[in-house]
Amino acid sequence: MQNPPINLMSMDRLAMDAFFADIGEKHFRTQQVLQWIYQRKVIKVDAMTDLSKVLRQRLGDTTCCNLPEIVSQQFSTDGTCKWLLRLRDGNCIETVFIPEDDRGTLCVSSQVGCSLNCTFCATARQGYSRNLEVDEIIGQLWIANDALERNGYATADPENSFDHRRPVTNVVMMGMGEPLINFDNVVSAMRLMMDDYSFGLSRRRVTLSTAGMVPAIDRLAQTCPVSLAVSLHAPDDLLRDELVPLNRKYPIEELLAACKRYVAGSGRQRVTFEYVMLDGVNDSPSHAVQLAKILRNVPAKVNLIPFNPFSGIPYRRSNTDVINRFRDELLSRDIFTVIRKTRGDDIEAACGQLAGEFIDRTRRSERMARESQRVMLS
Ligand code: SAH
Repeated sequence: MQNPPINLMSMDRLAMDAFFADIGEKHFRTQQVLQWIYQRKVIKVDAMTDLSKVLRQRLGDTTCCNLPEIVSQQFSTDGTCKWLLRLRDGNCIETVFIPEDDRGTLCVSSQVGCSLNCTFCATARQGYSRNLEVDEIIGQLWIANDALERNGYATADPENSFDHRRPVTNVVMMGMGEPLINFDNVVSAMRLMMDDYSFGLSRRRVTLSTAGMVPAIDRLAQTCPVSLAVSLHAPDDLLRDELVPLNRKYPIEELLAACKRYVAGSGRQRVTFEYVMLDGVNDSPSHAVQLAKILRNVPAKVNLIPFNPFSGIPYRRSNTDVINRFRDELLSRDIFTVIRKTRGDDIEAACGQLAGEFIDRTRRSERMARESQRVMLS
């Protein structure tokens, strides 16, 4: 029986070096192939004209380049673009491009669904199916850049006249899923994002967001010290246990200790803490005071995220005055704080609204639907 083709997009530089060594080729082949795929956007080995005919034939017989298929593109009135992408197994994930004056940020998914079950997140409601493969993660960046390039960077929407003429300059691993649960694949994909032969993004411009997988935060500092964001959302364990159930395993004190180690071990300046503003839940001045207290000795920046609602969820967004006051409390205690501008919410592309379409292996989505029906009927 013939072996299945090896996917060239599943390999970072090290893996590709090993692959070419294995078939008796020089390691500069890695540079050539990476540049073809990621810089020239050529995925047919036949068209990689600086490879010998024999090698092209051989790669043509034994390898492939698989990209997710674009099912739909949606454009927000603010220029944000959301792609629904179909994977080989039929599952669909979402990727979002957010153009700003000085940069273009791509929000990349790391899993099909999410297993963590944070109470305020739309992805959690959908349940969980599986980790994404390296090619499915790097493929999101390939596709976004290709779509933006084709349209002259004037956003991906040819109908729109936004003056955000730029490719992807920043990546945030903040789409569907918990990236540190899919550690090896996410690290390989981030290495490809930063590789000079590929997309060449600097470490500063790649951010990984985690709900707080403590041991993996330490591993990340050693293996791939990108910018780190942590979804904190509550200043004490009682409340965080409820909002981010992972807290029961890795409570706040352990998490903050890991963040300090990350800064010390990775050479990064600070950690960004995300804090979703939920009306009447975590947004009082006393929550702000407590938050400032726990972050006193952590090199931190706080990102306040106005909650993005979706159907069937009991939370509401804190009002603007409350959010401003929360920020001012933190600032007055010398905690660097910004309020994140909500982008793309008219097309459900904002933080926590990504859902995709896939088969939930945990049956959580069914349970959730049953529960919300019970609440509605009671
Ligand atoms: N699992 C990772 C990355 C995905 S979530 C993590 O937890 O960090 C990306 C960010 O969006 C997180 O800070 C998350 O808590 C936040 N978020 C989730 N749902 C949200 C919602 N409905 N409104 C605003 N932010 C939300």
